[in-house]
Amino acid sequence: MKAVSLLQISQWTSGVIKKSGQQKEISHVTIDSRQVKKGSLFVPLKGERVDGHAFLTQAAENGAAVAFVETGYTCPASTGLSMAVIEVDNTLLALQQLAAAYRDQFQLPVIGITGSNGKTTTKDLIASVLSVKYCVHKNKGNYNNHIGLPLTLLELEPAHQCAVLEMGMSGMGEISVLSRLAKPSHALVTNVGWAHVQNLGNRENIAEAKMEILEGLQSDGVLIINGDDEYLLQQIERKVLNNSVIRVGFSPGLEMQVLGVEDLAGEGFAFRTNRTGGNIFRVMHPGMHHVIGGLFAVLIGQLFHMTPEEIQEGLNSFEPSGMRMEIIRTNQCELINDAYNANPDSVKAALKVLKSRTGNRRVAVLGNMFELGEETERLHRELAHELMDAAVDVLITVGEMARWIALEAATLEMNSKELIIFETATPEEAALILSRETREKDVILVKGSRAMAMEKIVVQLMEGD
Ligand code: ATP
Ligand code: MG
Repeated sequence: MKAVSLLQISQWTSGVIKKSGQQKEISHVTIDSRQVKKGSLFVPLKGERVDGHAFLTQAAENGAAVAFVETGYTCPASTGLSMAVIEVDNTLLALQQLAAAYRDQFQLPVIGITGSNGKTTTKDLIASVLSVKYCVHKNKGNYNNHIGLPLTLLELEPAHQCAVLEMGMSGMGEISVLSRLAKPSHALVTNVGWAHVQNLGNRENIAEAKMEILEGLQSDGVLIINGDDEYLLQQIERKVLNNSVIRVGFSPGLEMQVLGVEDLAGEGFAFRTNRTGGNIFRVMHPGMHHVIGGLFAVLIGQLFHMTPEEIQEGLNSFEPSGMRMEIIRTNQCELINDAYNANPDSVKAALKVLKSRTGNRRVAVLGNMFELGEETERLHRELAHELMDAAVDVLITVGEMARWIALEAATLEMNSKELIIFETATPEEAALILSRETREKDVILVKGSRAMAMEKIVVQLMEGD
């Protein structure tokens, strides 16, 4: 982070300097007092369980240069004289104001990414490509929300030549805030799925919420969308757009269209496009649902004046973030660790990957999918049909909602081959069943919503290996 003075911070956040400290500027911002170091600004946030103001003393002890405090809160005397204090109306808002003003000091292209599925994967693919030629900044892990994104912006350095930023949401109005903070030059929407339908009611509303990314898009910025997504296409037809649009996908007539695509034996895929001459690009990451992410990455490489060789070099160095389609080979079997999260679209996509792998039996271990509101039972039951398509041999469900998959699958069983079904309540129980039932060379998919912590199964199986 480029140093920012105390005065500057107070001006940007309309804060009042209540106490001056010994250090006159900050070079780091954190919301966690344990991460505070010399030169940090500590931002205490009020959480549901914990109020960060309780850690002001610890922040001071760890060398914080400055802390925000919310109006009405008296900073304890134990914070000493070395740490400056700025009083603000709301510490979260102040963090966002600071991040927005800080970001405005940089003139660099910013690629903002939202969508229901594949944001992190697309971000990592694009960043890998751009890194071949440029110094790239991107969010760490899943730092994509109203707190993570401002913290990411505050890590911008003068050396950065572009930024690739994921923006997540769970309701209306959130992407608008994030996009106005980041002010992207390129706004990219991966797709509109079922995630967060509980808060938004239907997919039209989900699409509407994603398109809020336009609210922060620079006037000469470009909108890039998945041109195979009917909900996104409807959006761009309905809206009066001041920005140019690039539609990307498989459908004929798109600005960027896949001309040929090949599944590389379940290990990755190769494709050609109408914009890139005879060049073939390869991405070694399982799942044909990732082709669209590969396309976005190639397009961005091209828009950033990279040669096909440079783009391919970037695709080669792509490493997915953890728990996303990780293929793990144990002595006994092959695990597909996709435990990071789950919604109906991503489970369907993962089952296709399971189908494409060669091995003995196909085992699907599926946990609850949350935040589906009234659609919860239907969307779980629907997955039973996908299990049949994927020729799954063994199904283990984890949790009360996932049980609907098992119940539905049991009714389908008669017409098709035998499916062995287990219903369990916890990942631990599922791991025990797996360790008992697994046979040599089985291929096992593990997937569920984040709160299910399905990775415990993978850890337990690997420990027993
Ligand atoms: P989150 O909202 O949790 O941040 P995300 O949008 O960043 O998720 P990723 O972390 O890239 O998404 O991927 C999450 C899951 O979605 C993985 O299981 C991945 O395989 C799957 N996925 C990625 N792209 C698609 C897609 N286009 N269609 C369906 N599933 C997808
Ligand atoms: Mg993500």
